[in-house]
Amino acid sequence: MNVKTIALVAHDGKKADLVAFATFNREKLAEYHLVATGTTGKLLQEKVGLEVECVLSGPYGGDAQIAARVAEGLIDGVFFLVDPLDKHPHDPDIQTLLRACNVHNVPIATNVATADLIISTNAL
Ligand code: PGA
Repeated sequence: MNVKTIALVAHDGKKADLVAFATFNREKLAEYHLVATGTTGKLLQEKVGLEVECVLSGPYGGDAQIAARVAEGLIDGVFFLVDPLDKHPHDPDIQTLLRACNVHNVPIATNVATADLIISTNAL
């Protein structure tokens, strides 16, 4: 059976929430190939102990790299904890990732409540 791939991204204001989510769901997440933007991935490795493939940090193109993988059909689901109360210099890349998921009908959770629903129901 092919291992499915989950992409994880968290804006700075949501990184603590993502670490808490990943700690609680560590065993389930470990069943997937995980890819994350640079800082998010490093946190998941160091704080949660998950094996994660890191791409570039978000502001340096990481969201765009993940969007490209979504477009190529290489990602099965995205957990993207966005901070709606902050400004982001890489907003065009963020919109690209959201758009790529919607164009290709790839599940994307943009808040913890939805991420919880997806992981707790083994929906991926
Ligand atoms: P980061 O990128 O994980 O490298 O902080 C996330 C983002 O801001 O899109």
